[in-house]
Amino acid sequence: MSVVLKFGGTSVATADALERVVRIVRAAAGERVVVVSATAGTTNSLIETVRAAAKGDVVGAEEIMTRLASSHDDLLRKSARKDVEETSSVLDELAQRSKALVRSVAILHECSARTQDAIVSYGELASSEIVAATLRSHGIDAVAVPATRMVVTDDAFGNAAPAFEETYARAKAELEPLLRAGKVPVVTGFIGATREGVITTLGRGASDYSAAILAAALRADECLIYTDVSGVMSADPRMVQGARPLPRLSYAEAAELSYFGAKVLHPRAVLPAIEVGIPVRILNTFAPDEAGTTITRQADTDGSIVKATTSLGGLGLLTVQGAGMSGIPGFAAKVFDTTAEQSISVLMISQASSENSICIVVPADTADRLKHALEKMLAKELAHHDVERVSMERPIAVVAAVGEGMRGTPGVAARVFGALGRAGVNVIAIAQGSSELNISFCVTEAEQARAVRAVHDEFHSAPETSASPTRAAVAR
Ligand code: ADP
Ligand code: ASP
Ligand code: MG
Repeated sequence: MSVVLKFGGTSVATADALERVVRIVRAAAGERVVVVSATAGTTNSLIETVRAAAKGDVVGAEEIMTRLASSHDDLLRKSARKDVEETSSVLDELAQRSKALVRSVAILHECSARTQDAIVSYGELASSEIVAATLRSHGIDAVAVPATRMVVTDDAFGNAAPAFEETYARAKAELEPLLRAGKVPVVTGFIGATREGVITTLGRGASDYSAAILAAALRADECLIYTDVSGVMSADPRMVQGARPLPRLSYAEAAELSYFGAKVLHPRAVLPAIEVGIPVRILNTFAPDEAGTTITRQADTDGSIVKATTSLGGLGLLTVQGAGMSGIPGFAAKVFDTTAEQSISVLMISQASSENSICIVVPADTADRLKHALEKMLAKELAHHDVERVSMERPIAVVAAVGEGMRGTPGVAARVFGALGRAGVNVIAIAQGSSELNISFCVTEAEQARAVRAVHDEFHSAPETSASPTRAAVAR
């Protein structure tokens, strides 16, 4: 039996939380690999440091670094009783290295993604040392292991992609001897390194991904993601009071939910697990006896239609519109070539069947750049009025209703949009994948929370039958 246990930011941020981590690790049976995030707020603060330094604010940047270093040292001293001085000096070395990098950013007034990755890696490197020392203090033979020795990635700094085969081989070579020796490796989530050994990061929130990668490498029996809520819930609990934990999800449902904003799980985290068929469980560090959510290959037919409603704000919507677009072969391809050239990831696409408009949803901070690039690419069509305009709206949000039970159930869209209509929410664009696993739509960011609540309440406050009289009336 082997398990990978991943603890998120809040689960490692205080002495009380670390006590709970100790109890959970101690209670886990068999071989255990622990994966940790940086303590809550640390990655954000490190990015803030980088920004301050890049503006030349060396004093402000150093202040944040000093504050972070002293809070890490405090946490160590409150939580660990063994190896405290040795670990404290390791923490100090890590902080000094990041501080030196921050100073060089302040001198250059410029920070590359590569340098930023090296600076933010401090968060996970420091927390893995603190967690390992705390576990050792409680009689668990733990050892901090930087993932840079195992997770081999490309050089897309800030959002690097792992080379799976190489990573799996290295992870086995690094971790199996430790496990055989009865040790508990405490591995840094979020970070990796290129083949040349340059530190990279796998994207915000990617410690979940790191855990799934290591679970797949070791063919672990389970990948347990410990966080601060009792599983994936029917909606973001910060937005919807009546949100409930979902006992079971399929990999496909989990992937859709996290892609559309369920922050509780990183969107890529399920991929390595799917390939090997490892169940992923989302559990609560602060209520470890609660059942949480189990994510497996099987589509779960629990009778529900929409399992969860999620949303993602901070987006921009670009609409390319014009009567002359219809029927031009390759028109959509030209539009998407432009997004690719600009390295902008598209979150949602919708095209009216008349082909008079194409809507593209992208991160809000890339929308201006994409609008200019599209206008440049379409200069001829705009001049001839084949394309009337490229318009942009922001900030907008995408809301998604997700559930395997939607497949083949008539009237779901009518219920979704009926509920939005009754709540007075204006829908800007709609998309539904042919998998029928989700219906997603755009609203203004101001209406995001209202839209989520309306859809959530439609499917979660009443017994679910798609053919109840009021629903049928809406469907007509
Ligand atoms: P960790 O640091 O443990 O990885 P995160 O902050 O990344 O934790 O993710 C957990 C948070 O995700 C929860 O505290 C909750 O506010 C948020 N969240 C958003 N959508 C959902 C959802 N559908 N179910 C559960 N939590 C959600
Ligand atoms: N510390 C990283 C972040 O805040 C990774 C993670 O927490 O999963 O994005
Ligand atoms: Mg997270």
